[in-house]
Amino acid sequence: MLNAFNVIGLGLTIGDALGAASVDSGGSNSGPANPMAGHDVALARRVDKLTMACMAMWELIRDQTTLTEEDLIAKMREIDLRDGSEDGKLTLRVRNCPACNRPVGPRSDQCLYCGADMPSETAFNKSL
Ligand SMILES: [Zn+2]
Repeated sequence: MLNAFNVIGLGLTIGDALGAASVDSGGSNSGPANPMAGHDVALARRVDKLTMACMAMWELIRDQTTLTEEDLIAKMREIDLRDGSEDGKLTLRVRNCPACNRPVGPRSDQCLYCGADMPSETAFNKSL
């Protein structure tokens, strides 16, 4: 059966991939301890939780609407292609400040040059 979460490579959890490497670095004599190991594990757990939340939301939507896995995959591909490349990555674009027209990083809420608030394009980059 077609499954969007496997198509995008989430069949193997990031926790599986990072957890194995991080756990090994903690107590073995195979090399120096990785100071980022705890961050890897915490990040992996967070990604796993977000993946489960996305899966739960999708299954609720699928079960209560006429949308299908194919619809979900088509939408994911459409979003992936918005940056011009079907590579499974979201590449955020530099925007120009509405006040001074200088370039502002995609994750900045304010212009670094003049301090103007940057307009949010979607709920996903809106500050709370
Ligand atoms: Zn500005």
